[in-house]
Amino acid sequence: MTNVDEKLEPILTEVLRRNVGEVEFHQAVREVLESLGRVVAKHPRYAENALIERICEPERQIIFRVPWIDDAGQVQINRGFRVQFNSALGPYKGGIRFHPSVNVGIIKFLGFEQTFKNALTGMPIGGGKGGSDFNPRGRSDREIMRFCQSFMTELHRHLGEYTDVPAGDIGVGGREIGYMFGQYKRLTNRYEAGVLTGKALFYGGSRARKEATGYGATYFVQRMLGTKGQDFAGKRVVVSGSGNVAVYTMEKVIEFGGKIVACSDSNGYVVDEAGIDLELVKQIKEVRRARIAEYARLKGAGTHYVEGGSIWDVPCDVAMPSATQNELTGREARLLVKNGVVAVGEGANMPCTPEAVRLFQEAGVLFAPGKAANAGGVATSALEMQQNASRDSWTFEQTETRLAAIMHDIHDRCAETADEYGAPGDYVLGANIAGFVRVAEAMDALGVI
Ligand code: GLU
Repeated sequence: MTNVDEKLEPILTEVLRRNVGEVEFHQAVREVLESLGRVVAKHPRYAENALIERICEPERQIIFRVPWIDDAGQVQINRGFRVQFNSALGPYKGGIRFHPSVNVGIIKFLGFEQTFKNALTGMPIGGGKGGSDFNPRGRSDREIMRFCQSFMTELHRHLGEYTDVPAGDIGVGGREIGYMFGQYKRLTNRYEAGVLTGKALFYGGSRARKEATGYGATYFVQRMLGTKGQDFAGKRVVVSGSGNVAVYTMEKVIEFGGKIVACSDSNGYVVDEAGIDLELVKQIKEVRRARIAEYARLKGAGTHYVEGGSIWDVPCDVAMPSATQNELTGREARLLVKNGVVAVGEGANMPCTPEAVRLFQEAGVLFAPGKAANAGGVATSALEMQQNASRDSWTFEQTETRLAAIMHDIHDRCAETADEYGAPGDYVLGANIAGFVRVAEAMDALGVI
């Protein structure tokens, strides 16, 4: 296991001291600092002027009350967050997550990761993240709308197309973005399309944005497999999660000739050895907003549903964890390696624990970290901003072609950076260093900020 270089150790100590109990944030910072030892050894100037310390400290953290009224007429309270992490490369950019697990540490870890991810895309976007501990599960459409309006009533003063541009994440899709955009428009009296991305097509959204994270992760892994003369054709693939990332990863994997043998939601997973029927999954998840257990009930013979349990017990050649952070632990990594996994691509943000990542890398499994592999979503958000700025609307093909080129570029930059720093095939190191160098160069050029 790599350790944090002793020159950088005090930075980690300070992050732990200043952000007490924020374990996911600690985990994300530690992982990046582990990669940076090689950078400061080669280029000591990056260790000067507290540059790394400044990158580990968010520029601004906003925490606010979100009061709203449920269908029974009761007043409910949730907590809202926006962490504006780094704007050296462009306006803060990153999603909004609605999930009961959300707290300041989780939003900070996501904002930190986002900063490097966005830098890796090569596009002019800084890093940020937001959300709330609001649980949308079981809430009516009207409750969702009132919650989104209240959330935006506070948040809008901190946003702007040149300031901070949120998008969706877990629990926030097209419907929620629509309600938030509507409220932003009322409050500001401006049709500022570029203030939010992930919008529906008819009011300024981009084609291929919904598909982008999943498609992008698949393009990345396909290119990574290519370095070993392999591809998705004929491979058994397991994709966890049931949001946009998972659904559109499955779609592109199938297009590339892979077979999806299992998929999941937070209640359990379903196995279909004949290959998951994606239309049925879309019907269940996107149209009926139901649970994946329905799949086995509707499809019947040849499928089975496992309540609880771990989807990673299902043997596969390629694993695409696309649910949430730390969903794939050391135990599961050991089993996947034993079952012959050849590649792992993170569709979610930090879904593999540090122990799992280490086990994959030690076993020679190709491993694509989320900040590189899932950057297609935010990259296409930046394309949506471009279309909004020029009042244009591109075709699906045009947008997907740009996305594919961006993902190939990110892959190659990570691979080349890993080579340059003496760790060929280490995409974690490559992504961390390539992302860091871009942010560091911009910060250095802008003075002590
Ligand atoms: N939530 C997505 C991510 O984790 C997308 C963010 C965006 O499009 O701004 O990258």
